[in-house]
Amino acid sequence: MRPFDYERVDSPAAAIEIAAALATHPGPATQAAFLAGGTTLVDLMKLDVMRPEVLIDINLLSDSALGRIELLDGGLRIGAMARMADAADHPAIKQNYPVIAQALQLAASQQLRNMASLGGNVLQRTRCPYFRDVSYTNCNKRIPGSGCAAMNGFNRQHAVLGASEQCIATYPGDFAQALIALDARVELVGPDGTRVIPFASLHRPPGTTPQVETSLQPGELIVAFRVPAGEWTRRSLYLKVRDRESYEFALASAAVALSIKDGAVDEARIALGGVATVPWRAADAEAALRGRRLDDAAMHDAAEAAFAGAATRQHNAFKVALGKRTLIRALTQAATLEL
Ligand code: SF4
Repeated sequence: MRPFDYERVDSPAAAIEIAAALATHPGPATQAAFLAGGTTLVDLMKLDVMRPEVLIDINLLSDSALGRIELLDGGLRIGAMARMADAADHPAIKQNYPVIAQALQLAASQQLRNMASLGGNVLQRTRCPYFRDVSYTNCNKRIPGSGCAAMNGFNRQHAVLGASEQCIATYPGDFAQALIALDARVELVGPDGTRVIPFASLHRPPGTTPQVETSLQPGELIVAFRVPAGEWTRRSLYLKVRDRESYEFALASAAVALSIKDGAVDEARIALGGVATVPWRAADAEAALRGRRLDDAAMHDAAEAAFAGAATRQHNAFKVALGKRTLIRALTQAATLEL
């Protein structure tokens, strides 16, 4: 691992002040990174994929509002420094927002869930093996303009939705699928003050700049996630299909939340994981369900709509069929939940 400087802060303002000063000081920009649980960052520093020159340790912020989980009138507010395990085991989240609890419970290992912050979780980097191995010199995400080793390499785990000619890397997280399905918003604080953005606009599809993964500004810090209450949040679940049943990333996953009235779908919220370059809201699948009885035909139509735009490579074509079956199974299970 390369040498780096280390700063520990006890307020968001102090963290942002350091990050902003490093980003704007004269001369070559100094790369800084916020250190929370470190479960992605330190991993990638050891692999020499990420090379921050300064780490700004924000773990003391866990004792502030950034570490709290609060049930509010209008929904749920989850501090970005809350740990994955805190939210996965929170009784009110398990009861009222099960898709969130399940997405976290099915991710990583218990040890990692105890360490990893939720802010860091949504920012985790892709598991593309060519990105994580610096001996490959053609990776547009790591070295812009260098090419993409996965295009014609081993691309079994890569994305079939949202890919570009520059990058087909899969977004690896689970929690993000629950957030995007529930129309969450993200509170941010940075050098220019605070702002709240839709979670759906936090991640950027690869396009021609796969190295730019989020809409965060330099020095900007995630403070919290706000999840609005809705009739669909209790009838929700996360289904994850993977090569092994523990400590593994999704090959295909579905976050679904339903409101059913008079036997028909009143509202459907659907997000897909393991198959796309970013947390993927399946709006066309939702539209295919609204107003219909949740029978085999409706679920089949939703699954077809969800993957209508899929583009496959040599080894990942199986994800289309797997993704459709995963969504249909998730919808079937959600429809029969006893509330
Ligand atoms: Fe790099 Fe993306 Fe290609 Fe993987 S898929 S090698 S991350 S450019």
